[in-house]
Amino acid sequence: MNCLWCHDELLLEVNWSNVIFPTKAQLICGTCEKELVPLSGKRCKRCSRESHLDVCQDCLWWENYHHGEDIMEYNYSVFPYTTHIQDMIAKWKYRGDYELGHVFEQSFKQHFQQNFKKLRAAVAIPIPLSSERLQERCFNQASMLASFLPIQTLDILTRVHGEKQSKKTRMERISTKNPFILHQTLNNPVILVDDIYTTGTTLRHAASLLKKAGCPNVYTYTLVRG
Ligand SMILES: [Zn+2]
Ligand SMILES: [Zn+2]
Repeated sequence: MNCLWCHDELLLEVNWSNVIFPTKAQLICGTCEKELVPLSGKRCKRCSRESHLDVCQDCLWWENYHHGEDIMEYNYSVFPYTTHIQDMIAKWKYRGDYELGHVFEQSFKQHFQQNFKKLRAAVAIPIPLSSERLQERCFNQASMLASFLPIQTLDILTRVHGEKQSKKTRMERISTKNPFILHQTLNNPVILVDDIYTTGTTLRHAASLLKKAGCPNVYTYTLVRG
């Protein structure tokens, strides 16, 4: 078998632990594995941005915008947005390499246990793609990430507008009509799942619908902090 990223041949290192407990097939080589370093230093406790502040300026801005209480409890992200991760995500999500997503599975599960375990009644809701985008890409990367988690996933959001938000300013993005429709009320805490947290605007659009529909707390869990 070859590394899913660099295509070098995978040489299984034989030691006592994997002779006695054969582990799940290795997907990437040791060199590529080493490039996947999770965020570790001090971070904003709300949005996972690397920051020496407890709560970063951006999150204070959101809190103020929502009249003193952010609608999102916190976002946890696993990886920083390095060039390596950027390239991997591009190949996985935009160039349809579904299998590559499994490279993130172990870390995504493990950090979930560490940061969301206490939320026993929580359900995962993946951020949907619009139907046009889904047709182009064949799969939703957020649904794949949600499928790695040990909790129930609900597909109760749909997306009615396009995803191209990047050229807009923050105020333009926020005042844009909410791109989501929610199909069900809900009394459980929710963990919104997506591949990347950039400005947090899209996730907050979804969070605001959920809160209005009765959801007590909304958290977001993302693979990468942009
Ligand atoms: Zn490799
Ligand atoms: Zn923050």
